[in-house]
Amino acid sequence: MEKGMMNMETPTNVTIKGILGTLMASVDEKKKRVISLGMGDPTAYSCFTTNSIVQDSVVQTLESQKFNGYSPTVGLLQTRKAIAEYLSINLPYKLLEDDVYITAGCTQAIEVAISILAKPNANILVPKPGFPIYELCAAFRNVEIRHFDLLPDKGWEVDLKAVDALTDQNTVAIVIINPGNPCGNVYSYQHLKKIAEIAQKHKILVIADEVYGHLAFGENPFVPMGVFGSIVPVITLGSLSKRWLVPGWRLGWLVTTDPNGIFKNTKTVDRLKKYFDICGGPATFIQAAVQRILEDTKDVFFTTTLCTLKQTSDLCFKKIKEIPCLTCTQKPQGAMAVMVKLNISLLKDISDDIDFCFKLAKEESVILLPGLTVGLKNWVRITFAAEPSSLEEAFDRIKYFYQKHSHQQKGQNNQLQFKQQIFL
Ligand SMILES: *Cc1c(COP(=O)(O)O)cnc(C)c1O
Repeated sequence: MEKGMMNMETPTNVTIKGILGTLMASVDEKKKRVISLGMGDPTAYSCFTTNSIVQDSVVQTLESQKFNGYSPTVGLLQTRKAIAEYLSINLPYKLLEDDVYITAGCTQAIEVAISILAKPNANILVPKPGFPIYELCAAFRNVEIRHFDLLPDKGWEVDLKAVDALTDQNTVAIVIINPGNPCGNVYSYQHLKKIAEIAQKHKILVIADEVYGHLAFGENPFVPMGVFGSIVPVITLGSLSKRWLVPGWRLGWLVTTDPNGIFKNTKTVDRLKKYFDICGGPATFIQAAVQRILEDTKDVFFTTTLCTLKQTSDLCFKKIKEIPCLTCTQKPQGAMAVMVKLNISLLKDISDDIDFCFKLAKEESVILLPGLTVGLKNWVRITFAAEPSSLEEAFDRIKYFYQKHSHQQKGQNNQLQFKQQIFL
């Protein structure tokens, strides 16, 4: 490959799936049952199962035999309409079907967003810690990535000063993930407004990754970035994956939330429409089921999921406090994972987060994601979308692992030996 083609810290081998695969391979399966708190796929646990309406909707569209053909490249009209209506409920203006494009999960929506914004010398601002797919897509499209920090002591809010300092005339967009992965934060209305205003000041647009939309169970309610669409044009990304617990169905969307029509004037819409000619979206019968899924899913399904996530995140927070080498600066308020700080100096034979996760996998069959994968060395990401009993057991094993590797234990032993020597 030509030098400069991948002009960044080559993220190609540090994807979440890549590193989790390597961690899994180092587990000794004969020892203990593997507990993975590494991946954001909650369907591995029976308390995170989708509901029967969602299933029936797909069965119905499949059996109708009406949806065996191609859909329009931008998605079925009825599906785009249904998503426009669903998202408009929380907005001060109404979205139309033309604002909505159907994608293969939120992952493809990210890929499309970066691809249509790519141009020579362009750069995009992304959060650190963040979601590695953005880096990976940008590398393939030759778009420069610039990281702004999320502040752990301020509820993982965006470091707005850093955004100001990083932006230049080649900056095209800022990525905001809310509710947040990997931090489990939910931003307030006021903070989102400040982000919108800073983007407006610099004339850049906002890519709002709302794949965890509505999965908020703490103080702050979920506010979609599109609420500020009249301040700044927003590209909203989402999917059925997380809220409906069907990540394998690959049904996502890219939506232009732009009441002032800036995207239309700048030909962004033309680029989008063309780009979709090369995107194979999700299966037509899954698209066709979306309207019923969005309209008929009962509130009790959502409240049950939120209740479980609140319970498991509280459990996680409590258990972390019992383990001296782990610190959680902010109680999770949404999404499915939390960032936890590692105090390496308390451990005698662990060099960093990667070493911690590999030894933990090998010795205790517990999988956590090394923070470096999402941009923060000596942190770990812990997924709390898991069965409470599995979480309890995982933390008991982590505690045991800490005790085995802590200096303190060695110290106590020395003291004991010392005392024994004196008294003998
Ligand atoms: C899971 C996730 C995605 C990808 O969603 P899919 O619909 O499964 O493709 C995108 N962004 C973030 C922040 C995620 O956590």
